[in-house]
Amino acid sequence: MANQIDILNFVENLAISPYVDSFYPYTICRTYDLPLEDVLDSLNAMIQLGLLDLKYEIRCDNDANILEIVDKYSNYLGRKYYCYECNEEIEISIENVCPIFYITEKYKENMKKKKYKDSWSRRRAIWGC
Ligand SMILES: [Zn+2]
Repeated sequence: MANQIDILNFVENLAISPYVDSFYPYTICRTYDLPLEDVLDSLNAMIQLGLLDLKYEIRCDNDANILEIVDKYSNYLGRKYYCYECNEEIEISIENVCPIFYITEKYKENMKKKKYKDSWSRRRAIWGC
């Protein structure tokens, strides 16, 4: 059974990667077969620690084209957007909102240091110096 440590490890692996700076909570749900609420609880705790930022993608219904990425989605509900991908005007509802978590610079920096330290201690274990 997956738990908070699995989630932490999952996010930590992303934080180490130089190619990733954001992820969707659904990826963790699918990987560990966890309900969204549990995943959000763990990720919210990581927000409190300053490791993650939560933003929201506003997407088109028709083609999932990202119309905008915002900090707070409530101001956007009921607004109309024109999607240039499908050439249709979309009225934004909660269905168009998709949470996305960003790994903070601070977290990335910390993981870089940790990675360096880990490889250093591995070298020391092998070479004894
Ligand atoms: Zn569209």
